Amino acid sequence: MNKLVSGKVCLAASAFFLCIACKSQQGASKNEDLLNKIITVKDVKRVESTLASDDMRGRRTFTPDIDKAADFIAAEFAAAKLDKLPGANSYKQEFALIRATAQSQSAVLDGQSIDNKNILVITTKEQLKITETSGYEKVFIKQGTNLQREARGLLQGKKNLLVLVDESFANSLGNLGRLKNSMFGMDNNLVFVVSNTDPKTFTIEATHEIKEQPLANVVAMIPGKSKKDEYVVFSGHYDHLGVRKPVDGDSIYNGANDDAAGTTAMIMLAKYFKALANNERTILFAAFTAEEIGGFGSRYFSQQLDPEKVVAMFNIEMIGTDSKWGKNSAYITGYEKTDMGTMLQKNLEGSGFTFYPDPYPQQQLFYRSDNATLARLGVPAHTISTSKMDNEPNYHKMSDEVETLDLENMTEIIKAIAISSTSIIAGKETPSRVKVEELR
Ligand SMILES: [Zn+2]
Repeated sequence: MNKLVSGKVCLAASAFFLCIACKSQQGASKNEDLLNKIITVKDVKRVESTLASDDMRGRRTFTPDIDKAADFIAAEFAAAKLDKLPGANSYKQEFALIRATAQSQSAVLDGQSIDNKNILVITTKEQLKITETSGYEKVFIKQGTNLQREARGLLQGKKNLLVLVDESFANSLGNLGRLKNSMFGMDNNLVFVVSNTDPKTFTIEATHEIKEQPLANVVAMIPGKSKKDEYVVFSGHYDHLGVRKPVDGDSIYNGANDDAAGTTAMIMLAKYFKALANNERTILFAAFTAEEIGGFGSRYFSQQLDPEKVVAMFNIEMIGTDSKWGKNSAYITGYEKTDMGTMLQKNLEGSGFTFYPDPYPQQQLFYRSDNATLARLGVPAHTISTSKMDNEPNYHKMSDEVETLDLENMTEIIKAIAISSTSIIAGKETPSRVKVEELR
């Protein structure tokens, strides 16, 4: 039973009225026919069951198992005849995560040596030594600012920086340690030192052990008919937790809901929009890697494009179980941060489907998935989910298996996402941007 009937008003009127007043009705019917033909429970089940099969062993990042999943997603893109990104010869967007482990470091500013705890060097070089003649730009992080946010902002740039952090942040640099693990082939260096001076002379040295680990997103596109430089992104993450200690004979975290479900939705939407072939804006489809270990896939992806060109991002996470409101509903994280949610809901009018604001704001879900990276760059980037985060029995458990999912409802959700995006895909509506300064 398909509750997603658009143009109900017209259908309820007489046939005469339908012919004269509802020229768009034909278009709507075509969309609907394709929607029902392409986004089927059968195909959703096929893709979902493949990704979440024991054969893929939980798709853990840095294992051959996740490579198998990447190959499968790429094959689905190929079968749908989607375009690769410009200049790419594969759907795989390959990169290396560089892990730098500090071996030793020292800093002397105007002859004063700085405590080890108050030095943080972000570099991909084994040996780094800088002085006042190295051409480093000095930047100051002042008292009362948000250290995390300031540092993250600086990391986006490409310059060599000496960052002088106010002494009110003494012993806080450890909190920035996570930033050290988000480096992909960066060739600039960021040196943070806690000091209230503006040093005339300085010598800072650091030694790191550098390890490169290969990763890949799987990305495809459908170029827009007229607004080629305006992108709409649909995404889900295809990594999960892998294999762990056996319990009752099982050891595989299949991640059927988290996030084979979102990845399946993204693939279905790619097939649908390709068949529809009327998108004015360019659509990008991304299966992200390494979400569970820090969102590295989406971070790399966001660095490969101009965020100003991304008009909307639909990230899809865990839509395989019924939401707290029951069937035909889902929620959108960060709903109040842009007007995208109301836009989507308006496009769903008369469909019997409802998008709600995230009912678990205390869980900060907006910041906990792959939408966050692009949102921090101002993109209206939200995650659509049904997961009952206060009571989802299989979340991050070995029991997150296909049998626990409601595939009929999941299919309806995927269709609803397609319908909800209509005006944005058509280039008729553009959601407001995220106000970066209001993010935590
Ligand atoms: Zn997830």
